[in-house]
Amino acid sequence: MTSADILIIGGGIAGLSAAAALSNDAYVIVLEAEEQIGFHSSGRSATMVHYALGDRLVRALTLASRPFFENPPDGFSDAPLGHRMPVLVHAREDERPDLDALEAEISLFATVERLDTVGVHTLCPLLNDEAVHGIADRNGIRLDPHALLQGNLKQLKTRGGALVPGQRVASVSRAAGVWKLTSEKGQSFSAPILVNAAGSWADEIALLAGVWRVGLQPKRRTIITFDAPPGTDLRALPFAKTIGDELYFAPESGRLFASPMDEVRSDPCDAQPDEYEVALAASRMEERTSVKIKRIHSRWAGLRTFTSDKHPAVGFAPNAEGFFWLVGQGGFGLQTSPAMAAIAASLITRGAWPVPEVAPDALNPARFFGKAA
Ligand SMILES: Cc1cc2nc3c(=O)[nH]c(=O)nc-3n(C[C@H](O)[C@H](O)[C@H](O)COP(=O)(O)OP(=O)(O)OC[C@H]3O[C@@H](n4cnc5c(N)ncnc54)[C@H](O)[C@@H]3O)c2cc1C
Repeated sequence: MTSADILIIGGGIAGLSAAAALSNDAYVIVLEAEEQIGFHSSGRSATMVHYALGDRLVRALTLASRPFFENPPDGFSDAPLGHRMPVLVHAREDERPDLDALEAEISLFATVERLDTVGVHTLCPLLNDEAVHGIADRNGIRLDPHALLQGNLKQLKTRGGALVPGQRVASVSRAAGVWKLTSEKGQSFSAPILVNAAGSWADEIALLAGVWRVGLQPKRRTIITFDAPPGTDLRALPFAKTIGDELYFAPESGRLFASPMDEVRSDPCDAQPDEYEVALAASRMEERTSVKIKRIHSRWAGLRTFTSDKHPAVGFAPNAEGFFWLVGQGGFGLQTSPAMAAIAASLITRGAWPVPEVAPDALNPARFFGKAA
């Protein structure tokens, strides 16, 4: 039996960033089912930091996280955690009221520039003529998820913590004030505090532990990559998104990537792209831009996991001592990870609340109990 102060299930961005933050004060062990970190959602995202998704709470968590990406702690990562990429949200004439509403909302958090037809097409020459209105945030960040994951892992290890990969937790029990976890391989681990950061599988962990579930819904999202038209200046292109949730695209390793912003309900799994959504991505790209996709270079899918109110659940379960939820990061888990990790650490170590703009009750998992029992 290996003992720690805190056990964390999940070597994605949620588990690793919380582990790094907590390892200042405690001996932390992260258990990850896969051989590599970030194998599921955290390694399959669009890797953007922007304000065009979620609501005010998500934007507040994003804003609170930005300083970490721009100025990571000394020694966190040898590589920058990301680079500037403008974010363009564009609209047709009939979508103008929705764009106005989003502009007002984002302006609370970032400097937003209003663009007319010329401005939209100057920033993104690939868009077709229907795109006549736009808002631009020139300070979007395209993250390097590898640097972010590895930086958190490095910090965990430097502070004396450990990652144990290839250990799928198969049983969870509590006796004498201690959680005991046993993996499929038969290794056992114990600690008084268990952090459930198992992403799409987090409700399954609760089931193993005999703890009420918060009621999570994983939803699949698909991305394809393909060549840009010859002569496209990829470095100048923004992350471009329709005002409705129909399509986004951006430059990706010398090509373009696009997503039809699908939200297909799924069980927790190693998500695979479905032919329908792959075709949808290609057809929406051709409909909204001048790009003709001759060949899809690569495709992947990942799960975005939501609570019923689409806000994360962070905090101790009210009905199970020492069981801590860190789940429901939906489509914003990378860009909110520094704030979420700081919040998790403050709740576990009883430190000061680190994000005054967010009310603790809005994240408290207790709001779901009764409903999801
Ligand atoms: C297509 C797509 C685009 C996205 N775009 C963005 C974006 O632009 N910006 C942004 O911020 N976010 C984005 N996201 C969302 C972001 O990727 C997620 O919110 C985030 O990765 C969730 O992190 P996580 O650590 O909770 O989950 P995961 O990365 O899935 O980690 C959970 C881990 O728990 C492990 N686990 C599960 N069960 C067990 C067990 N029994 N024992 C041990 N380990 C276990 C799993 O193996 C997994 O590694 C996107 C997601 C997708 C799919």
